[in-house]
Amino acid sequence: ALALGLAACGSSEKTVDQEASAAASAGNAGALVGVTMPTKSSERWIHDGDNVKAGLEKLGYQVDLQYAENDIPTQVNQIENQITKGAKLLIIASIDGTAITTQLQEAADKKIPVIAYDRLIRNSPNVDYYATFDNFKVGVQQATSLLTGLKVVNADGSAGDAKGPFNIELFAGSPDDNNATFFFNGAMSILQPHIDKGTLVVKSGQTDFKTVAILRWDPATAQKRMEDILTKTYSGGDQVAGVLSPYDGLSIGILSALKSNGYGTSGQPYPIVTGQDAELASVKSIIADEQYSTIHKDTRQLADVTVKMTDALLKGGTPEVNNTKDYENGNKVVPSFLLEPIIVDKSNYQQALIDTGYYTAAQLG
Ligand code: BGC
Repeated sequence: ALALGLAACGSSEKTVDQEASAAASAGNAGALVGVTMPTKSSERWIHDGDNVKAGLEKLGYQVDLQYAENDIPTQVNQIENQITKGAKLLIIASIDGTAITTQLQEAADKKIPVIAYDRLIRNSPNVDYYATFDNFKVGVQQATSLLTGLKVVNADGSAGDAKGPFNIELFAGSPDDNNATFFFNGAMSILQPHIDKGTLVVKSGQTDFKTVAILRWDPATAQKRMEDILTKTYSGGDQVAGVLSPYDGLSIGILSALKSNGYGTSGQPYPIVTGQDAELASVKSIIADEQYSTIHKDTRQLADVTVKMTDALLKGGTPEVNNTKDYENGNKVVPSFLLEPIIVDKSNYQQALIDTGYYTAAQLG
């Protein structure tokens, strides 16, 4: 801390540790980093913001952390302000990945590097790096857990006993979030063969991304869509056996719609409902046999990767990446670091979420 403090004061003493002196020589010791997150309405982004901020502050940087409550003009203003305040690097989890092109140009003109955080920023050449999870794999895992929940497939991947046909319904995330397409495409790569065989039937007939996408990942919109589907398609007595839901918040809305239509009793159990983010309410719901599964993406790891990228860039170095092909943003392939998501259900939440210190047992009790 002392070494970083000296560096932050602009000291050129050789007593500072190597890292801090590299930062000092690049002139960025103690620099301001602008971090913009989409919303506090979902826990994960609060964890992300807190973890990124703490990690950067530990290295002596100053952090301006902003949330935009899913409002695009607010996020645009926050980024503008950070550039005005002299931020030396921007970390952006965008709301609409195409809406900040002007601000990114401004950043590029001032040689401010930009890291896309979790969500790819599209249609701009001015995105330097991308830190995220393997988003296609998230979708694959959601679909896989839907199939294991239905017992169409066994945990080891072999064919299960259940032959169906099972009625399922599909949901996707916000169409302006690049991740939503990756999740959906990943899921459909697994589900489509079973739909083609007739094991799974999308009873509403709604299978097109645009039709099943939920703008801004809004739980109430998902609840309404599920209610409409139950009324239109299932009032004759057919049962929903599974719902592909890409995010825990949507799963909560979907489960409420199901509950108000008589599901969640011993005679009519909830369908297999997937999710993402391992949010507290949803993990509790999994423990209570309501939601079936979620995808856990350890935000501590994502923050860590992003802090390392930031530090490398501000010291004039080259961040480590592990993917330079999958994330084409409309202008360029953005060099990316992809982390591994994991499926969490009732069988492994203890090991995945409590033993790893992500949550305490008391939080889930
Ligand atoms: C994130 C997901 C999250 C969703 C809604 C996506 O971009 O990757 O983790 O569930 O946004 O906040």
